[in-house]
Amino acid sequence: MDFRFTDEEDDFRRSVRDWVNDKYPKAKCNELERQEDHDGSNFPHEYFKDLADAGFLGVGIDESLGGQGGGAMMQSLLMEELARNLAGLTWVWGISSFCAKSIQKFASPAIRDEFVPAMVAGEKKVAIAITEPGAGTDLLGGMITRAKKVDGGYVINGAKIWSTMAHVSDFLLLLAKTNEGEKSSFGKTLFLVPTDQPGLVATPIPKLGMRCVGSCEVQLDDAFVPDTHVIGEVDRGWNHILTTLNNERILVAALATGVLRGVLEDSIAYAQERRAFGHAIGDFQVIQHWIADMKMKLSQAELLTYKAAWMYDQGMDTGVESSAAKAIAAEYATWAADRGLQILGGMGYSAEFDMQRYWRDVRLYQIGPVTNEMVRNIVAQSLGLDRSF
Ligand SMILES: Cc1cc2nc3c(=O)[nH]c(=O)nc-3n(C[C@H](O)[C@H](O)[C@H](O)COP(=O)(O)OP(=O)(O)OC[C@H]3O[C@@H](n4cnc5c(N)ncnc54)[C@H](O)[C@@H]3O)c2cc1C
Repeated sequence: MDFRFTDEEDDFRRSVRDWVNDKYPKAKCNELERQEDHDGSNFPHEYFKDLADAGFLGVGIDESLGGQGGGAMMQSLLMEELARNLAGLTWVWGISSFCAKSIQKFASPAIRDEFVPAMVAGEKKVAIAITEPGAGTDLLGGMITRAKKVDGGYVINGAKIWSTMAHVSDFLLLLAKTNEGEKSSFGKTLFLVPTDQPGLVATPIPKLGMRCVGSCEVQLDDAFVPDTHVIGEVDRGWNHILTTLNNERILVAALATGVLRGVLEDSIAYAQERRAFGHAIGDFQVIQHWIADMKMKLSQAELLTYKAAWMYDQGMDTGVESSAAKAIAAEYATWAADRGLQILGGMGYSAEFDMQRYWRDVRLYQIGPVTNEMVRNIVAQSLGLDRSF
């Protein structure tokens, strides 16, 4: 076993950290996040452009398509370093990466060559539209959005929910029913649906965290998608998505790990500065223990995340490891942000400080992209227990 990063990985991490500290210090991220995104006017377009200009949207994407190359480990280091300051806003990068990787892997060469370089350059935005109002964890059981074959393409009717960035994106990577099929995993197809049409309306839902990046309800009434924009094989869309889900879970684990690190830094700084009873509050043992626990939990989250990323890059199956890393990192980061709030006392509750932002943002990752209850179902099943649902 070798727990060291390569020189390339160390250099990359350092350069991302410098970039984030220079361009997106915590106070700026706090200011940015607080502008609620009702209709796209407060979406941080400049931040998205900065990610593209820095080459970050190309990390994990083939160099032949304008990307930077690199695997899940490089993506995780990027994600973690961004999240230290940007917290939930880091997921803007995750969405772009998930969509670009799926298009790179499954789209026709013409669509791949048109979309991926443009996405890496920040010229085209694509959002993920999989979850439905009646179908989240039980996606296959509750899905109603349907695509009907017509001349030259498909007409889609139905609704999606929580599609983050849908209202500011040029296309949606959308899963719809194309066939009832015998098996529920069969008969679903992935489409790249243009958003610029009257049959598609995306409306942000007010929410707890990452407030400047809207997550939308999407209504589809006879939305049209041309045949060229079918991604992968018709009826096999669910199988395609499954192959990118583990990568997505590792990245969410890295995001939560980055937030945990940000929480730890802010907790130490405040504990050393704030005084009570003639002491810095960091002299009190209870505060020291919370901070020590944060550090120990950070180490565990890092180990699980890096191991899952390493396995993924070796081509190993990470179905259990990527899900477990996501669940543990999300729970530890939420716990740490809660203790961080306590350490900051009243100031933890103040919008002026970053701790409340970390706490709000990181809570999401026990829910999405897969709930921690479903993760435990997966882990239990891997131990030979019967499927519980
Ligand atoms: C801010 C935000 C952004 C999002 N962004 C996107 C996006 O960009 N694109 C997208 O497609 N989706 C997105 N999602 C959706 C997200 O992936 C879902 O919310 C998540 O998969 C959970 O689905 P659900 O909300 O329908 O919960 P439900 O499936 O309704 O679950 C409700 C509760 O029941 C539990 N439960 C359900 N089944 C079981 C079981 N078998 N065993 C034990 N417990 C169970 C769950 O764990 C949970 O506690 C986003 C969600 C949020 C909140």
